[in-house]
Amino acid sequence: SEGDSCKMAVDTPVISGSWFSEVSSVCPGQSFSIQIKEILHHQHSGFQDVLVFDSKNYGRVLVLDGMIQVTERDEFAYQEMLTHLPMFSHPHPAKVLIIGGGDGGILREVLKHPSVESVVQCEIDKDVVEVSKKFLPSLASSFSDPKLTLHIGDGLEFMQKCKGVFDIVITDSSDPVGPAESLFGVTYYESLFQALRPGGIVASQGESPWLHLELIKSMLTSCRKIFPVVDYAFSTVPSYPSGQIGYVLCSKDVATDFRIPLRTLEEADLDKWGLRYYDTEVHKAAFVLPRFASTALLP
Ligand code: SAM
Repeated sequence: SEGDSCKMAVDTPVISGSWFSEVSSVCPGQSFSIQIKEILHHQHSGFQDVLVFDSKNYGRVLVLDGMIQVTERDEFAYQEMLTHLPMFSHPHPAKVLIIGGGDGGILREVLKHPSVESVVQCEIDKDVVEVSKKFLPSLASSFSDPKLTLHIGDGLEFMQKCKGVFDIVITDSSDPVGPAESLFGVTYYESLFQALRPGGIVASQGESPWLHLELIKSMLTSCRKIFPVVDYAFSTVPSYPSGQIGYVLCSKDVATDFRIPLRTLEEADLDKWGLRYYDTEVHKAAFVLPRFASTALLP
């Protein structure tokens, strides 16, 4: 099944001539390729294979264990949606936790909200942070922000120590092979619930319905056992497998309706915030699923 493919071995980058190809057990039987201009960095960090290259038409690309994490060309779609869907669904997000997110893109978006007082981030691999600061400054621009406390360690372990602290927890994890496997289980969702204050909201990277319907279904089933409100949205992101990615959203507050944002940004604010994907209409539309996905995923 699709779910089983996720337990397969971690992958390493496949480079042939000037082409990088994403050949991975996460998306068996298909491969997305990007043409390389120059390899900028390649190492094994102790946790994972870390590759950064400059490409012909996607800008710089960060690859972990053979999987594309971000490209400069389309990262905004994912960062804006994973951040602003939960943030605009909460009446006053002040304390935010980010799990993973070593490239800094989610942190950059979270800090755009004036209600945010503090952000804690727990990333397992300090090398991803350092490499992103060096090679992806447009993403990793906010690591020096005084509102941030950065922890290097496992997200699940960190979360289990937090009780009733956060308004928002955003899990910006890699796929469930390698170090991120622990961020997809029931235990993780239970500790997310415990880590939230009353009215708290969580948002997690939710894979693609084209590739991982069974995995998404089991994530949503786990979440529904724990949270009173659970929903699923998606956006396009050309460089992710199948060109789209989902977002799992859960709230502790029965009154939350993720489909209706609580605050609206006017055109001038959208420009001021530098938003290129998210706006109120896109927020609402992101929850409208095609039938093959809605019949499988929605109650
Ligand atoms: N947007 C990306 C995607 O969906 O492909 C994810 C980007 S972000 C770079 C993913 C981060 O999660 C990586 O930096 C990785 O080191 C981190 N990560 C993986 N497992 C983790 C864990 N158990 N605890 C904390 N961070 C983890």
